[in-house]
Amino acid sequence: MSAGADDFLVKPINPRHLIPAVRSRVERFRDLRDLMSRDSLTGLYNHATAKELLETELARAGRSGATVSFAMLDIDHFKAVNDTFGHAVGDSVIKALSSILTRRLRKGDVIGRLGGEEFGAILPDTSADEAFSVMETIRIAFEEISKNAAECDAPITLSCGIATFPACDTAMSLSEAADRALYEAKTKGRNKTVLAGPSVVTPDKIFGLSR
Ligand code: GH3
Ligand code: MG
Ligand code: MG
Repeated sequence: MSAGADDFLVKPINPRHLIPAVRSRVERFRDLRDLMSRDSLTGLYNHATAKELLETELARAGRSGATVSFAMLDIDHFKAVNDTFGHAVGDSVIKALSSILTRRLRKGDVIGRLGGEEFGAILPDTSADEAFSVMETIRIAFEEISKNAAECDAPITLSCGIATFPACDTAMSLSEAADRALYEAKTKGRNKTVLAGPSVVTPDKIFGLSR
């Protein structure tokens, strides 16, 4: 038991005891894993797990020569949404965006809540142009929902920045480029999707000093 076993079962084992014993441990393990890797409000992956999955996806794409797009989304003027309608409504807006992302993206895509009202989507085998078009559909769908809410006089919108691997060749440069594109979408008036420009080659990179 001190080596990490959960239980000690003596042969002959009665299947009526063995099966529930194994099942309850598997369920407990899955619950614990979800608790550690998922965000409790939306059920999406949390920041740490999304980051790990981005590394895994880039390693896979590096081996197979595939393209991966990474989108960062942030709800516009969300502080004002909370201030106007209250925190509970703010929470349901976050959940609404999470469910649009889950419904509109593919099964193999990875969706994470990176923090407050900020989300990340990893889109394997997706070019920058394809990612732009799917994120535009999501941006418009999100805006439409709030337009249809009677109590909402100004629509709630989001901004999005997209970067692509292998143009950005590490998880860090990819997320930094997506973040810069998101910032550009904000400064250009919000409610926009912006594609990251070509990655900047720094002297460090030329001499192999940065990863
Ligand atoms: P911008 O358009 O520049 O993104 O402006 P913003 O108001 O969305 O950005 P800011 O970062 O100033 O505000 C984010 C707000 O999100 C502040 C914080 O109270 C709120 N927030 C963070 N997490 C949650 C949450 O789980 N639920 C709710 N209701 N609000 C949250
Ligand atoms: Mg915001
Ligand atoms: Mg934010």
